[in-house]
Amino acid sequence: MKILKVNMTEGKIDSMPVPEGKVLGGRGMIDHLMTEYGSATAHPLSPEALFVAAVGILGGTAAPNAHRISVGGKSPLTGGIKEANAGGIAAHKLGRLGIQAIMVDGTSDEWKVLKVDANGASLEPAGDVVGMKNYEACDKLRERYGDKVGIIIIGRAGEMKLCNSTVAITDPEGRPARHCARGGVGAIMGAKGLKAVVVDDKDGKLRKPVNEEAFKAAVKECAEAIRTGDFTEAFHTYGTPMFIDADNERGSLPTYNHRQGSFEDEKRLKVNANALQETNNARVGNTGCGHTCMPGCVIQCSPMFFDKDGNYVTSGFEYETICMLGPNLGVDDLDAIARMDRACDEYGLDTIETGCTIGVLNDAGLFEFGDAARAESLIEEIAQGTPLGRIVGSGTAHAAKVLGIDRVPAVKGQGIPAHAARTSKGWAIAYTSNPQGADHTAGVVLDEPLSKEGQVERGRQAQILMTAFDCTGLCMFTFLNEAFGILTSLINSLTGSNLSEDDYVQMGKDTLKQERAFNLKAGIGPEADRLPDWMRTEPLPPMNEAFDVPQEEVDDFWNF
Ligand code: SF4
Repeated sequence: MKILKVNMTEGKIDSMPVPEGKVLGGRGMIDHLMTEYGSATAHPLSPEALFVAAVGILGGTAAPNAHRISVGGKSPLTGGIKEANAGGIAAHKLGRLGIQAIMVDGTSDEWKVLKVDANGASLEPAGDVVGMKNYEACDKLRERYGDKVGIIIIGRAGEMKLCNSTVAITDPEGRPARHCARGGVGAIMGAKGLKAVVVDDKDGKLRKPVNEEAFKAAVKECAEAIRTGDFTEAFHTYGTPMFIDADNERGSLPTYNHRQGSFEDEKRLKVNANALQETNNARVGNTGCGHTCMPGCVIQCSPMFFDKDGNYVTSGFEYETICMLGPNLGVDDLDAIARMDRACDEYGLDTIETGCTIGVLNDAGLFEFGDAARAESLIEEIAQGTPLGRIVGSGTAHAAKVLGIDRVPAVKGQGIPAHAARTSKGWAIAYTSNPQGADHTAGVVLDEPLSKEGQVERGRQAQILMTAFDCTGLCMFTFLNEAFGILTSLINSLTGSNLSEDDYVQMGKDTLKQERAFNLKAGIGPEADRLPDWMRTEPLPPMNEAFDVPQEEVDDFWNF
């Protein structure tokens, strides 16, 4: 496996092998390349900064649910290291071409497309796809490069180098609906002058494991474990929108700009998983659930949404999106939320950051809760690059600063996602302590969510294991992050490594600490590892809980 090196200033493409003796992929590969070749002090949008796309350790193989792609660099939103991952078809194709990562530096004066196939890689003029919405741009790129290619692309937000900007990945139907969403990764790619990466794996092939028989057996065991997993059926049937009711029930559904932890029943029932399914059923005769985002997914959890005429609106219509653009804005209109999700996908905007930022605008008198039309128009303003649009497109913390708001739902500059910190206290340790900023996937903890006892230890273990898991390319909905036997069997038989279960866990610890070291060099120290003060003093109804894990305990997080 190799790492493609692309210098956009000189238009030069080179490659180097993945370092021998190291097991690197996904988040770990990004951290490795940022540490070895990146600069913690460079401006995230400067030519010296790196943009990295990395396939997981298991990407491009026959392993199930294993083809998430990580992208990252130094975040313009947080100022620290950033890794954001998504499904889609690009990682599988890159793996089939023997490419573990693409590392980009420099900057091009003209927008380029990086074309990658079995014959090599080339930089080509991006042409008329610049400025287009993502869906149309992907159609055009397929006309140009063939209908089977996988596409990694930035939208208008990335072109404008906004701090809220994503990198979109096409799904098996070619839709740019899967997004490496958080931390402004689209701006990092945009600052390189790189509009898209087009991956054609026509003459590629599945990666050949070092020990084929052992790998085949590990794949079989892995697929069976996923198929019979406790949550597989629920995820397939309802997808993540099922958490609207679950989080509402435990007072952890951010509502009205994080002012409540539940939505009024008559409103919630219009935006929950049942509402989504009934709406789709009435319009197209099926629930819209059970779609897949990548090759080889055993679960198939992605929900789609259709308009009143039965036309496709969006897919990957997830809990976080529905909550942050719905209840968090007081919006109970599923059609409007789906249109906003589609608009975010078209322009390359993070739905979590967008919903969090628009919520904050309420405190500045620029948005009324429940005004879906206003929320939609604000998203259009971002795409048009109006002054207000650019402020909103700069993310929650930046917008709050410009607008003079001190009640800011963000950690390390990144908007707090859709599991309320005050009623998910273990989960909130990931928001406070993780080098990535407030991130709902960084370390899920559900045990005793209202208790302040033992949460730092729970959060620490969850983050260590999720960091290791983010290196593999596996989807977190497999719930295999503690299946050490399966994970080490897959990795060892594929790569010829000899990882013990302890080694695997150590990979998580080392990767997390590498991120911490990068952030310290970038000037982000322990003072940034905290929730906003108002979350300690403002109880969240209806549970009326404030965050009360002592800060000294939070500060002890890194003691491992
Ligand atoms: S379970 Fe869902 S998110 Fe995970 S790989 Fe399958 S479709 Fe994608």
